[in-house]
Amino acid sequence: MDLKELLNKEGDYTRDEIISLLNSEDIDSLIEKANEIRDFYFGETVHLRGIVEFSNYCSENCIYCSYREDNLIIPRYRMSADEIINAAKTIYDNGIHTVVLQSGSDNYYDTDLISYLIYYIKREFDVAVTLSIGERSFEEYKAWKIAGADRYIMKHESANPKTYSIYHRKNQLFERINHLKYLKHIGYQVGSGNIIGLPLQTIEDIADDILLCRELDVDMAAFTPFIPAPNTPYQNMQKVPDEFVMKVIAVVRIVLKNIYISSSSIFERNNIKSREKGLLAGANVILPDFTPSPYRDYFKHYINSGGLIEDPLSSHKIIKDRIEALGKTIASTKGHSIKTQSNR
Ligand code: SF4
Repeated sequence: MDLKELLNKEGDYTRDEIISLLNSEDIDSLIEKANEIRDFYFGETVHLRGIVEFSNYCSENCIYCSYREDNLIIPRYRMSADEIINAAKTIYDNGIHTVVLQSGSDNYYDTDLISYLIYYIKREFDVAVTLSIGERSFEEYKAWKIAGADRYIMKHESANPKTYSIYHRKNQLFERINHLKYLKHIGYQVGSGNIIGLPLQTIEDIADDILLCRELDVDMAAFTPFIPAPNTPYQNMQKVPDEFVMKVIAVVRIVLKNIYISSSSIFERNNIKSREKGLLAGANVILPDFTPSPYRDYFKHYINSGGLIEDPLSSHKIIKDRIEALGKTIASTKGHSIKTQSNR
């Protein structure tokens, strides 16, 4: 099947077909198709989700991540409940209807504290709450759903069990998959995804990452570029080219179709230029960072990031202006999954 036939095919793509899409050099055709599919399901709107990164303590040791437990150089911080709630208020006051509470794997924030934050934020502000706080117990997932959490993002990072156990020495892929299935089962809108361009990753692995998202029936996906992080074993590895990231995002859209796809990178969080490329390739979500000072300033000594150290409000304004300059509009809704919208 040539690319044109492949792009117009009806029904689900096979693994071999996804690999063919990922191997295609005709990036323009992939992107054109991805935009057509995104616009069909979502129109020209871009959804903003305001992130509060409330702790960078982490008990995990993911090989590519600056927050890994073994990184003794990075300064650590934890925000208080009041600081987190204030950041959520700032997000809401700026017309954003999703608050993403994100942290490393940090059990300092126990079941009750996270429940309190969810309950308070949902009661005071008209927002959806997304959690992105790593693997926790099934009981906690249940408690936080009851407290009002809407969504849970937990990237599987790699659907290849061998590389998964290299990237995450403490954990196994099947456990992460079980957690994602359970979250979906108890009613969360679930997001997963990979890191594009990790060392040892193959095209077949990326195809399997997309297929795993389809199997998990995700509502949201984040396929973010690998950026070598300082003070990690991968700090001297090659950064993945933007064009390849755009190609993968386009193929994710073509295969998974009606899900929210974010355009973000781990450490260039408010770098709108890199994010524009994701939007142009088929993504429809941007996550402006509302982590307040002084915590956001912790990054500038360790991470070479564009836009990150600006204050949240000026970064947010830049993001809004650039989105509008692309001819797109910013959604005014919470942006719930369109797979489950009929239930709301
Ligand atoms: S990727 Fe997440 S879980 Fe892994 S070290 Fe970084 S913050 Fe911790």
